[in-house]
Amino acid sequence: MRKLFYEDINITKFEAQVLSCDYDQDRKLYKVLLDQTAFFPEEGGQSADIGTLNGMEVVDAQIKDDLIYHYVEQAIEVGSTVSGLVDWNQRFDFMQQHSGEHILSGLIHNKYGYNNVGFHLSNNEVTMDFNGPLDWEQAREIELEANKIVYQNLPVNILYPTNDELINMEYRSKIEIDGQVRIVEIPGVDMCACCAPHVATTGQIGILKIVGVQSYKGGVRLNILCGERALKDYSLKYDSVSAIAQDMSTKQEQVVEGYQRLKDECQAYKYKVNELQAKCLSMSLAALPSPEESENAVLFTDITDNMAIRNAVNELMEKYSGYCGVFAGGDMASDNKTGDDCDGDKKVCNYRFVIGSKSSDCNELAQKLRSELGAKCGGNKVMIQGSVEAGKSEIERIVV
Ligand SMILES: [Zn+2]
Repeated sequence: MRKLFYEDINITKFEAQVLSCDYDQDRKLYKVLLDQTAFFPEEGGQSADIGTLNGMEVVDAQIKDDLIYHYVEQAIEVGSTVSGLVDWNQRFDFMQQHSGEHILSGLIHNKYGYNNVGFHLSNNEVTMDFNGPLDWEQAREIELEANKIVYQNLPVNILYPTNDELINMEYRSKIEIDGQVRIVEIPGVDMCACCAPHVATTGQIGILKIVGVQSYKGGVRLNILCGERALKDYSLKYDSVSAIAQDMSTKQEQVVEGYQRLKDECQAYKYKVNELQAKCLSMSLAALPSPEESENAVLFTDITDNMAIRNAVNELMEKYSGYCGVFAGGDMASDNKTGDDCDGDKKVCNYRFVIGSKSSDCNELAQKLRSELGAKCGGNKVMIQGSVEAGKSEIERIVV
């Protein structure tokens, strides 16, 4: 079968004879074999070309025993002539990514001696794995070098060396294969055995951007974007950063500092709020019946800061001999404040609570809260904590 992409990478329209058309039970699709095709199949980690045969979508193209099968939804008559059309946008995009990958792999191989041990190219992402580590700084250096190779607009040569020539040739992806080896050469940068379509000159790659560097199987995995993918990514990030910068009234290059400042401010406010909550809670404690009037002290509050609640319980335990509890929360339905809204049996509210006592057994009280109100709680003799869904008066009936 003639592979038209090896004769001219720019061929997207072609006519061909249908040699066979069989139904693939597993994929529920017809697989069509032609006498020639411009569809590059899924191969070497790269997804297949997409396009049409007689206007019908080619959803996949697979190679087996050097024959390329086109997957379509309806049968095509064997012996007929079909018109094929390869989606050039995806083809060219894939060529940009793949040639970009060769530049990076070549540079990394030359500089660090690492081999490319994994490659994946689809519509969603391009990943490349190397058998040695790289950090972001090293990746950025390589990225700059790679883009300089793009600017130089070097030719991407396809070579078909004889076996004798091949023996003395230094190239990546050296594996024993039968038949003709195809070498993709970027002069002075990379020589690699590869079967995929490539751009004609490095300038066609446009931009090469590394967007991911992560440790992977003892080496490193890089995510890259070339050409329009990189441009789209830049636009997306530009829009985000400019929107944030505008909102913060800061320069785009200062959004990270601006964000850090906001985060610090937020943290400071949080401390302040907690401090005020603690003060507030302390003042509420003063309004409770005095220790002479009641040996137990129970406070209902909408203040939810754990530290403030715990401190309040400790403060109560200094004065009151019985149970000292703080119930924090409120109306579940309206997420309303606590207190009177949750009074009586009219409404059931959700409270978190801490109860302590110097003389009474808190475990006994916990048992009562569990059995009578379905509370979830635990702790020890001196202090318990948990949550309960109940009305204020129900709780008071048990605790006060
Ligand atoms: Zn390749």
